[in-house]
Amino acid sequence: MSKHLRVAIIGAGPAGIYAGNILASKYPDVNIDLFDSLPAPYGLIRYGVAPDHPRIKGIVNSLHEMLDSGVIRFFGNVEFGKDLTLADIRKHYHAVIFATGAIKDATLNIPGVDLEGSYGAADFVSWYDGHPDFPRTWPLNAKQVAVLGNGNVALDVARVLAKHADDMLSTDIPANVYEGLKASPVTDVHVFGRRGPAQIKFTPIELRELGELEDVDLVLYDEDFPEGWFDEDAEGVTNQHKVMARIIEGWREEEPKGASRRLHLHFFSSPVEILGTDKVEGIKFERTELNPDGSSVHGTGQFVEFPVQAVYRAIGYFGSELPEVPFDDKYGVIRNQGGRVVDEDGSQVEGLYATGWIKRGPVGLIGHTKSDATETIENLVADVDKLVDPAVADTDAVLAELKARGVDYTTWAGWLKLNEHEIALGAADTSHVERERVKVVDREEQVSISNA
Ligand code: NAP
Repeated sequence: MSKHLRVAIIGAGPAGIYAGNILASKYPDVNIDLFDSLPAPYGLIRYGVAPDHPRIKGIVNSLHEMLDSGVIRFFGNVEFGKDLTLADIRKHYHAVIFATGAIKDATLNIPGVDLEGSYGAADFVSWYDGHPDFPRTWPLNAKQVAVLGNGNVALDVARVLAKHADDMLSTDIPANVYEGLKASPVTDVHVFGRRGPAQIKFTPIELRELGELEDVDLVLYDEDFPEGWFDEDAEGVTNQHKVMARIIEGWREEEPKGASRRLHLHFFSSPVEILGTDKVEGIKFERTELNPDGSSVHGTGQFVEFPVQAVYRAIGYFGSELPEVPFDDKYGVIRNQGGRVVDEDGSQVEGLYATGWIKRGPVGLIGHTKSDATETIENLVADVDKLVDPAVADTDAVLAELKARGVDYTTWAGWLKLNEHEIALGAADTSHVERERVKVVDREEQVSISNA
C-alpha cells in the first residue's frame, strides 16, 4: 500500500456500493465518497426492481450494512457534470468510478413507435417504482396491451399490468401508483418474443410467478410450439432452460379458469409496425422461424395483426452518456477495458474507471455486478502508483464547495431519516394489508425529510 487514496464513486446503486465495499477491503487506506443524482441510495433496487419482488429488494439489507459501516460516505441529490464536474473530481480525488447503470430504453426502429400509447418499459418501471424524475400519472386506459421482449423486464411489466392492484398493496408502491393500477381497465396482456419458447431470456423463478397471479389466466398458442420445440440436448441448453420448458409445458396442459384478466405468451413474432393514426390501435408482427443453428430466426413473410391500445417495449435498456467521459454510443457504455476508462484510440484515461451496466451493458442479474466490480477494483489498485495526487487534501472541502454552489445534498444520516419516515408511512396505512413502507416520491420532499 503505497499511498492514502481518495476515490469518488458516481452512482449509489448496487454496482457503486459493491465497488466501494470491495475497494475498502482490498485497499483499506482509502476515503470513499459515493455520489448519486437522486436524494436516496440504492439505484436499481429502489427504482428498477419491481415492487412485488421483495426477495430481490432484500439485497438492500446487505447494501445498507455496507453504507452503515461508515467506511463509505453517501451524498445524494448531487448530479455529476452539473453539481460536481470532472474538474472537481480531479481536484479532490485520485480516481473516480462511474456506476451510473442504464435507465433508458433501447430504441426500436419500426413505423408507429412514436404513437401515443407506445411506451418504453424503462419509463413505466420508473413510474411504478416512484422515480422522482418521472411523471406521477401514467395513462392506464388500454384494455388490450402488447409487451415486446422475452427478458425479465418484459415479465415485470406484463405482471404489473396484469396483476390486480390490491395484490400489489402489500408492497412499497407509492399511493399514486396503486390508484393508477386500480383504475386500469386492462383485460388482456400479450407478451411477444421474436424467437421461440426455447430461446426465452427469462429466469425460472420470474417465469413461474406468471402462473401464480390471482384471477389471471395464462394463454399459450399451439402454433408457437413446433414438434419437438424443446431439445434438451441442443447446444447451450442449461438447467434453467429445462426448468422453464417444464413450466411452459405444464401451462399448455392447463384449462383456463375463467379469470377476469388474461396474460398471453406469443413467440416467433417479430414486431414490424405499430398501427394507428394518432394513437396505438394495433400492432403488426412478422412470424419467424428458427434457423438451422437452433437459435437465430428468419422472417417467414407471414404477417399477423393484433388490436391493442398500448405497446410496451421491453427490448433492453441503454446507458446514458456522462459529460466529459468517453462513451460508446453503439453499445451505450463508457469506453473501457476491464473497467479502466479508455478514449477512442484505446488509451487509458488516467483516474477514470467504470463498473456495472454502464461498463458492460444492461445484462445480468444484480449479483453479477460483484464480479464486475472486483475486476474494476483490481485494475484500479494495480494503477495506484500512477494515480495523481489531488490538489486539495481536506476531505470536507468538496462538501463546502457543493454548499457554496447551493447544492442541497443529502447524507447517510438523512437517508436513515427518510427510511424511517417511509416505514412509518407504511405502518400508518389504514388499508387491510400490512405494508412494510410507502415510498416518498417527490424529490423536494425527500430532500426536506432527509435534511430536516
Ligand atoms: P434481456 O434479458 O436482454 O431481454 C431483452 C429481450 O428483448 C430479448 O427477448 C430480446 O430478444 C428482445 N429484443 C431485443 N431487440 C428486439 C427487437 N428489435 N424486437 C423484438 N424483441 C427484441 O433484457 P431485459 O429484459 O431488459 O433485462 C436486462 C437484465 O436485467 C437481464 O439480465 C434480466 O435478467 C435482468 N432483470 C432481472 C429481473 C429479475 O426479476 N430477476 C428483472 C428485470 C431484469 P432476443 O433474445 O431475440 O435478442
